[in-house]
Amino acid sequence: MNKTAELVWLNCLSFIEDNIKPQAYKTWFEPIKPVKLSGEALTIQVPSKFFYEWLEEHYIKLLRVALVRELGEHAKLIYDVRMENTYSSNSPQTVKIPSSNRNPLKPQRVTLPLESKRELKNPFIIPGLQKVKIESQLNPNYNFDNFIEGDSNRLARSASIAVANKPGGTSFNPLLIYGGVGLGKTHLAHAIGVDIKDKYSDKTVLYISSEKFTQQFIDSVKSNTRNDFIHFYQMIDVLIIDDVQFLSGKAGTQDVFFHIFNHLHQNGKQVILTSDKAPVDMQDIEQRLLSRFKWGLSAELQSPDYETRISILQNKLFRDGVEMPEEIVEYIAKNVKSNVRELEGVVISMIAQASFNRKEFTLELARQIVDKFVKNTKKEVSIDYIQKVVSKYFDMDVATLQSKTRKRHVVQARQLAMYFAKRMTKSSLASIGSQIGQRDHATVLHACKTVDNLTETDKQFRKYVDDLTKKLTF
Ligand code: ADP
Ligand code: MG
Repeated sequence: MNKTAELVWLNCLSFIEDNIKPQAYKTWFEPIKPVKLSGEALTIQVPSKFFYEWLEEHYIKLLRVALVRELGEHAKLIYDVRMENTYSSNSPQTVKIPSSNRNPLKPQRVTLPLESKRELKNPFIIPGLQKVKIESQLNPNYNFDNFIEGDSNRLARSASIAVANKPGGTSFNPLLIYGGVGLGKTHLAHAIGVDIKDKYSDKTVLYISSEKFTQQFIDSVKSNTRNDFIHFYQMIDVLIIDDVQFLSGKAGTQDVFFHIFNHLHQNGKQVILTSDKAPVDMQDIEQRLLSRFKWGLSAELQSPDYETRISILQNKLFRDGVEMPEEIVEYIAKNVKSNVRELEGVVISMIAQASFNRKEFTLELARQIVDKFVKNTKKEVSIDYIQKVVSKYFDMDVATLQSKTRKRHVVQARQLAMYFAKRMTKSSLASIGSQIGQRDHATVLHACKTVDNLTETDKQFRKYVDDLTKKLTF
């Protein structure tokens, strides 16, 4: 093998490894072999056509950055694709495909720091006479066409389509899509935006996560540009805010969002929100904001039933151009029930495994992968559940754990419950405190510090933490 190709690729790899999750690196980059370097063109060998497509679709941006660092502006990437045995013996073993000669690929769902480049160019442009062009931050891969309908999502899906047809013109304003993790909230939220951009190209659509929204707000306060922040959001026609549960406990952000919301609503603009809970179950969200959430429609996404799971699987396989025996599809659908993300994860692992080990899809392979997935998936723990487990472990009831007593063993149990709630849930300190015996956030913070200290200094206490960790994670 050409020495320089190897060197160039090694350097690329170390850059890539720093920018993606270890599992993704292992799956998609370790199997690649550098073959040739001629001028600014590096040829890499990939195990299959699927593999090449996957790289192009998910990692092209990262690859490009890595290559440009090594070979300069004009770096080129050529894939040497090992063809599956569909070719007769006298046809070439490999085909060479230059990178990105497929449709122009926009950066997609890769979470790497580079993505920050896609953020709002300047979130604080003050509206002038003309409309300022705003990057919508939408992912075109999340659309209605590939959102499979089923009983579990019919209402949410229909409402979303209605909103997309007449943004701001239905009574579904705001439209709040809620449901557990991996059930399609983000997908549906993007789909509405994508469809609106399609139909009404002059409308300003913006998708943003509540975390990013919060961060921008905090930054604006720091830099004394709070008004610009508000103005910016007030000129959006269709505002999509994902995961509003993260606004809980953040009074300042809620306040500013309240004003933005009112302005948009009064002006017939559409607001779309997603959340992991129904409004009635949301904690630490101001009442006046909650009542606004309830103005429109709250539509739930539930776990897909068996038929829907089958359709989702078949659709995904079809889109990936992969054929899989029916009994295997059924096996997966029967065993992976909780959410769509896991279903997709199993399919991706199956394809990856089969693709570079050049294995057939077998029931045995499906069984191995499903086992790994279903077991590895951490269950979502709630603060209630943590309190139950901790109380039981110390032989007391939850009421005692929450009581005001200062008895040492009760205090310890309470502190452990707070500590685990902080570690295992996304709740804020204030929210944890209010759920564990009406304490304030300082008490929770103190509890976490105490547990940290005791774990280091006290053997018995260390055992409590270990035991409880086991109980809570399995
Ligand atoms: P959430 O935001 O609720 O956690 P996502 O929208 O991220 O869930 O969905 C998880 C994955 O499942 C995504 O890849 C999404 O495309 C897919 N998905 C969810 N629901 C459906 C559906 N009804 N049809 C097709 N794909 C779906
Ligand atoms: Mg989501």
